[in-house]
Amino acid sequence: MSSDNILLDVKGLKKYFPVRKGLLRRVVAQVKAVDGVDMYIKEGETLGLVGESGCGKTTTGRSILRLIEPTAGEIIFKSKKLGTDGGYKEIDVAKASRKMMKALRRDMQIIFQDPYSSLNPRMTVGSIVGEPLLVHKIAKGQEREERVRELLAAVGLKPDHMKRYPHEFSGGQRQRIGVARALALDPQLIVADEPVSALDVSIQAQVLNLMEGLQEEFGLTYLFVAHDLSVVKHISDRVAVMYLGKIVELAATEKLFGNPKHPYTEALMSAVPVPDPDYNVERILLEGDVPSPVNPPSGCYFHPRCRYAKDICKTEEPIYRDLGDEHFVKCHLAEELSLRPVVSE
Ligand code: SF4
Repeated sequence: MSSDNILLDVKGLKKYFPVRKGLLRRVVAQVKAVDGVDMYIKEGETLGLVGESGCGKTTTGRSILRLIEPTAGEIIFKSKKLGTDGGYKEIDVAKASRKMMKALRRDMQIIFQDPYSSLNPRMTVGSIVGEPLLVHKIAKGQEREERVRELLAAVGLKPDHMKRYPHEFSGGQRQRIGVARALALDPQLIVADEPVSALDVSIQAQVLNLMEGLQEEFGLTYLFVAHDLSVVKHISDRVAVMYLGKIVELAATEKLFGNPKHPYTEALMSAVPVPDPDYNVERILLEGDVPSPVNPPSGCYFHPRCRYAKDICKTEEPIYRDLGDEHFVKCHLAEELSLRPVVSE
């Protein structure tokens, strides 16, 4: 695989949260929220990151942006703004200094899940969207106002919305304001953290279409974090499936949905509604609860809930490997299992 068009290369990313107990607040255990994630995102693509709630997908997104400090791993990012002579500069975000992080904030932005709590209710929309321009000393006064107008137009809002406050807007419009703020610094990478899950289904499609349009217009790269597989299928070029802090399968969207290779992916997909009444879907019910990330199972983390598990699965952790054509999977039996695809729409 050529590394030329890889914008972000994450290697061995870990984020552990200490569990403290007693008067002396001694560390008695670690919550392994992200436990050795390897993935790359190509320039201009959307990588979907899915999994059940608590699987570590949001922590992965936030660790990549250093909104929370990673415990270990490399996050290699190719910055255009910090490059010279029109080239890129490779930076390990995990080790970047505070000064470097401030510069990198211009390249890497986030759209939050909740458009209600992520916007300051005491600031006007103009101040919210224009704030990054002030903080990074990019524009002020008239110039800043003009840029805010452009950004609002880009996300389908009107110039006079600048003077209003967040509570005057619907959920979909607020998310558009969040998108405009993320775009203000002309970033290369946007981590979209469940950006539509708090919205009505009818509004979700509008925001997704907006994000797709903006991606084309501004050459954006997205890491799209979501628990809803249908949403991820709609927007992603490739999809990574996460379970208990690890990526268990990653492939191009058609390949993952048409030829899944991990039993967890198969089970997740069996819950996706299929718009064909003649297609008889057998839902695969996962036995038991998601195990605790403080004390994960031995061998393959998924083995207590896997209907194909064999003895080896209980003792040996499978290697995350490429089956060919950038189809990565972490399962001992990936080659021999014949798993059920989701019918294409
Ligand atoms: Fe199931 Fe074994 Fe594969 Fe894990 S390694 S997903 S337990 S078959």
